[in-house]
Amino acid sequence: MRIPLIAGNWKMYKTPDEAEEFCKKFAELYHGTDIRALLLVPFTSIATVKRCTEGTDILVGAQNVYFEKEGAYTGEISAPMLKALAIDYCIVGHSERRGYFGETDDIVNRKAKALLEEGIRPVICVGESLEIREAGGQNTHVSSQIRADFQGIPEEDAVKCVVAYEPIWAIGTGRTATPLQAGEMCSLIREELISMYGEDAADEIIIQYGGSVKPENITDIMDMPEIDGALVGGASLDPVKFMDIINF
Ligand code: PEP
Repeated sequence: MRIPLIAGNWKMYKTPDEAEEFCKKFAELYHGTDIRALLLVPFTSIATVKRCTEGTDILVGAQNVYFEKEGAYTGEISAPMLKALAIDYCIVGHSERRGYFGETDDIVNRKAKALLEEGIRPVICVGESLEIREAGGQNTHVSSQIRADFQGIPEEDAVKCVVAYEPIWAIGTGRTATPLQAGEMCSLIREELISMYGEDAADEIIIQYGGSVKPENITDIMDMPEIDGALVGGASLDPVKFMDIINF
């Protein structure tokens, strides 16, 4: 059975002090739910957020990783370094990284494999641009991202991955995909995973929707049978709003 997972992607927001302030408020409001809550925070706040959430079942993760284990890669952070911080998850292939930093499917695939090797679960982001959607190419685009991002990942690792369907036109724009659009794309992703790994394995993989998720729209999104959670950007920066989303 898939346990719903709602993740907050803080992007490049919050200093460690601000992260601590968030965690204090969030911990006051958090009384445990049937839903797993995950905070994906900047590298500089991981230690603080881990310390502040100790003893709770709030999960903590990172937003990026480099695929090499170590070496002369100035400014990069490796999967073994993240493992040493005892984090649970790490985003790969967010559209902001694909768009601004040239992260290709091949890089996403190598990063996912590097994380899995260290026991960290990748949150693999896929999704089409507005241009692709308007041309009707979203299914082909997202299917090919799934195939490439999971290429060579064996079944026992694939089931540990999370997929976040995030249409680029809905990220940070206030424009949400309709629950039906989101649900259809998540079904398509499940079908693609079934074709790669078979029904049983694909059935274990958490598929989230992301793109302007707010307390006002989370219930309708979570009503869709193939949607197992959400990846929340802007609204996860506010502990009250993020808690309202988790307690939808
Ligand atoms: C995101 O950062 O993955 C995201 C979906 O952002 P927002 O919720 O702000 O659209």
